[in-house]
Amino acid sequence: MAKTYDVIVIGGGPAGYVAAIRCAQLGLETACVEKWINFKNEPALGGTCLNVGCIPSKTLLESSEHYHLIKKGINSHGIHVDSVSLDLDKMMARKEDIVMQLTGGIGALFKANGVEWLKGHGKLLADRQVEVTARDGSTEVVSADQVIIATGSQPIDISAAPVDNAEGLIVDSTGALDFRQVPKTLGVIGAGVIGLELGSVWNRLGSKVIMLEAVEDFLALADQQIARDALRQFKKEGLDIRMATRVTATRKTADGVVVSFKDTSGDHEMTVDKLLVSVGRRPNTDNVAALESGLLFDERGYIHVDDDCRTNLPGVYAIGDVVRGPMLAHKGSEEGVMVAENIAGQHGHLNYDAIPWVIYTNPEIAWVGKTEQALKAEGIPYKIGTFPFAANGRAKAMEAASGMVKMLAHAETDLLLGCHIIGPFASELVQEAVLAMEFHASSEDLARTIHGHPTLYEAMHEAALAVHGRALHKINT
Ligand code: FAD
Ligand code: NAD
Repeated sequence: MAKTYDVIVIGGGPAGYVAAIRCAQLGLETACVEKWINFKNEPALGGTCLNVGCIPSKTLLESSEHYHLIKKGINSHGIHVDSVSLDLDKMMARKEDIVMQLTGGIGALFKANGVEWLKGHGKLLADRQVEVTARDGSTEVVSADQVIIATGSQPIDISAAPVDNAEGLIVDSTGALDFRQVPKTLGVIGAGVIGLELGSVWNRLGSKVIMLEAVEDFLALADQQIARDALRQFKKEGLDIRMATRVTATRKTADGVVVSFKDTSGDHEMTVDKLLVSVGRRPNTDNVAALESGLLFDERGYIHVDDDCRTNLPGVYAIGDVVRGPMLAHKGSEEGVMVAENIAGQHGHLNYDAIPWVIYTNPEIAWVGKTEQALKAEGIPYKIGTFPFAANGRAKAMEAASGMVKMLAHAETDLLLGCHIIGPFASELVQEAVLAMEFHASSEDLARTIHGHPTLYEAMHEAALAVHGRALHKINT
């Protein structure tokens, strides 16, 4: 007889492991099937985010930012550093140590909460049975009253640039998080979030980074006023970003990778030491469900779900990158909490209109809610308040006084509809706007909230004041 659980979660990334912990907290007997094998050739929890995504990328962004700052930017503070050297092996070892601590921490959380980790590949069969195939090929079938699929995503391949991380010449994000030498030149296909973050890491460490982006609009999902400012600032930082450029072929030679591409002026070639392919990610659905399970997929290959992450099968849910919506760790985790609470008979809910986005470049970009172009397209009347970090004392003291905060509020109700930030610690500042939107705050609510001085948050306050033309530290127009 198959062992039976209340809940089986397939996938132990930020969507799956959070769902499993929340289910266990709610008194449900829970197992999580996870197959990840880490760089030490050991089974690991945490998924893309902890092993080869959010955490290692942010660790390298932090390290490379320190190096860059000491090398290029500290003289203005009256600090002269005579010689700076890079120990890339140590930087990488620190990254690996942090990944090991955090992924190990999830194992400890599973133990503490009584979640059973079934190591291996999980496949949904009919009637909420799950086949688990271990590393040695042995299989076992377990079953549950409820199954949550959280199998995540993987990089999209393009035939013009086949990735081989082991060889290390044409790589995806996993390969680019693990270079053992700073490439002299790094080509990047796709100037999206991964291209910009990992391009920034290697640019700061000394690579010449050339980014080839297919479309004309830079960061099409972001507010376009912020995106234009970002493009200008990234170019100043040394990133060579070329829009409306399509890679047609690549060739490996003794000197690196020859990249053939086409732009508005015709066909070109360039040779780079390494090439990063970062053109988006696709859901992990290969071999996740047997045909007889009857699981439905949408036309783009994601598992089809409703607003509450219910699939077409009773008692089967799907969450995280494997379903519609932004591919963000916190979105997947909150879906996990929502589903666990609904399974336990509570009223789980997720506000998809208040999911923050962050791009951890320098300057950082962060936003929540509607962009100005979306409001225009939807015919929603709005007011704008902007405030530049150039007029913020704390940003000046930090030598980080570029960028702005832009608030968008409904022209009639004053309800906060969106907030877009480019500048220092945008990743942290945006949370004030997320909270405000969760509480259905108006821009007036933010304008009437006392903000400490001197803080970067004063830029949020001033932008809210600016919605009604009463910013205090800028000339209102
Ligand atoms: P995943 O994290 O992909 O986890 C899915 C898990 O399921 C994996 O562990 C996989 O091994 C397992 N699995 C798959 N199929 C099976 C199966 N059949 N049986 C058993 N196990 C299976 N997001 C942010 O919010 N902030 C960031 O700063 C950020 N930075 C990123 C940087 C990089 C370089 C990358 C690549 C991504 C980044 N992301 C970031 C995106 C983030 O990593 C994903 O949105 C997030 O990991 C999705 O969580 P998930 O649990 O849905 O999927
Ligand atoms: P992306 O969608 O952010 O960017 C991909 C870019 O590649 C787009 O600009 C697209 O126009 C371009 N592109 C597509 N095909 C191309 C081609 N053939 N040639 C040239 N350009 C091409 O995808 P990504 O950067 O791969 O990241 C994947 C996802 O991972 C993101 O959407 C995001 O959800 C998540 N992520 C989040 C963070 C974060 O939250 N800070 C960081 C990294 C990744």
